[in-house]
Amino acid sequence: MELQPILDRIGAAMAGAADRGRVADYIPELARASTVPFGMAVVTADGRAHATGDARVPFSIQSVSKVFTLAIALGRLGDQLWTRVGREPSGLAFNSMIQLEHENGIPRNPFINAGALVVTDAILSGHAPREVLGEILRFLREAAGDDDIHINRAVAASEQATGHRNLALAHFMAAHGNLVNPPELTCGTYFHQCAIEMSCMQLARAGRFLIGGGATGPRLVSPARVRRINALMMTCGHYDGSGDFAFRVDLPGKSGVGGGILVIAPGRASIAVWSPGLNEQGNSKLGTEAVEWLAREAGWSVFG
Ligand code: GLU
Repeated sequence: MELQPILDRIGAAMAGAADRGRVADYIPELARASTVPFGMAVVTADGRAHATGDARVPFSIQSVSKVFTLAIALGRLGDQLWTRVGREPSGLAFNSMIQLEHENGIPRNPFINAGALVVTDAILSGHAPREVLGEILRFLREAAGDDDIHINRAVAASEQATGHRNLALAHFMAAHGNLVNPPELTCGTYFHQCAIEMSCMQLARAGRFLIGGGATGPRLVSPARVRRINALMMTCGHYDGSGDFAFRVDLPGKSGVGGGILVIAPGRASIAVWSPGLNEQGNSKLGTEAVEWLAREAGWSVFG
């Protein structure tokens, strides 16, 4: 199967799409983004890369970073992490408070904001934020095989200045004894991790360690963990749109409000797509359509 012609067709269709969704506007720096860009990159298990559109333009990875911090936290704490965060889809918005209230400050999963704050808090313990951010960047650079991956300080500052909801989630969990570090410190680290910028090409390369099945690229976590991280991406990677994404795409994925999505075709490929306009659930509108199209044409599905 030739992937490049499929990507070329997708790129051309998406460049001309009329309804491109709406950019996230609750973080002022992200509100300035345009809905015009569209990029997609695919790195197959044998290491070959294909791309279309704006695949080399860096964008704010936002919640896609949660996949990488989860891998780091599991490496550091192992299964002990699951005493502080669950593994169930939330069926609620990414920044919802109500579930925390019902479940004693234990977030449903590591990909909603509350859960990601716990994961960041776990890797922060005993370290300075600067060290932890250095570790996250090192992990990403090694995963991608590319040192040119950085934090956009303006985006981090913009979220810091307006991140009342995340601070509220962190304080609420602290009240339940599920936050070790001061909420301001955990949130500050989290805002900076979300403000990391990567291109589709870099992100697709960074996702190679999740392909499994002897794919080329660095082996950063054990095969058992690769399966578990993929399972969580499949069930929880798109917030209250997770079921719809699984239904349409049949592959594990993790989205971010910057309009990026990392998708894994187990044993076959790592895929990154970016288009800043979002759908109602806060996931990239054209990005979702593009991976749905690619998975169908390539015949990639976890269900055979
Ligand atoms: N930094 C964003 C927030 O915490 C990430 C959300 C997302 O990408 O879905 O609100």
